[in-house]
Amino acid sequence: MRLSYGPVEVVRGVTFSVPAGSTTCVIGPSGSGKSTLLRGINRLHEPSGGDVLLAGTSTRGQHPDRLRRRIGMVFQHFNLFPDHTALENVALAPRTVAGVPRAEALRRAHARLAEVGLAERTDHRPRDLSGGQQQRVAIARALAMDPEVMLFDEVTSALDPELVKGVLNLMATLGRQGMTMVVVTHEMGFARRVADQVVFMDEGRVVEAGPPAQLFEQPRSERLRRFLAEVL
Ligand code: ADP
Ligand code: MG
Repeated sequence: MRLSYGPVEVVRGVTFSVPAGSTTCVIGPSGSGKSTLLRGINRLHEPSGGDVLLAGTSTRGQHPDRLRRRIGMVFQHFNLFPDHTALENVALAPRTVAGVPRAEALRRAHARLAEVGLAERTDHRPRDLSGGQQQRVAIARALAMDPEVMLFDEVTSALDPELVKGVLNLMATLGRQGMTMVVVTHEMGFARRVADQVVFMDEGRVVEAGPPAQLFEQPRSERLRRFLAEVL
């Protein structure tokens, strides 16, 4: 994929494949194009070249709205609707976008919130939840559309340190349950432990990709060695 902001190409020919049911962690310095890559994958920003294959099929001709039902995304800032309860936040898109009847959407939202450990918090509004709980609501909200793939963009970066682990554990559980995931993260421990594949990006390109043991234990490029020396 290639993606530009005006004349500036920010994603400069990135290619990798994510086998169904596997977890890919994308790491790299700030400004290397990781967020832009995710935005291109679910077409929050239109790529200037290349393609995204989903289950082996080109998505280029697919309407972005339809694509975003198949690819869930969770952001650093949870972007929950502040005046809605956790339950309503999770039920909203299935009702309004997918046309699921209200009672059924609420029933499923309950189940999703229970899955992320918030069965006791369904009637709370975002301001009455911790950051970690809000992020878990945001994850439940993305899962409520039954996506084929989940994209995570530094979802623990805005959290207080003591809340990070709960969210990472939830993501690890999703991975074990067979969700296909692309996770942009600064949590190197998580990448090493959970990823099937790690992709290291710098300046809009993939510098190295492979199993975590290879990238973390035997980095081939000077750039990755330097990056790891700074973050580990
Ligand atoms: P990362 O997520 O790896 O930190 P980003 O994808 O956010 O990197 O950004 C990659 C580059 O694109 C950076 O140089 C950034 O300044 C630039 N950029 C990001 N968003 C925009 C935008 N909306 N318009 C113009 N440039 C942008
Ligand atoms: Mg980013």
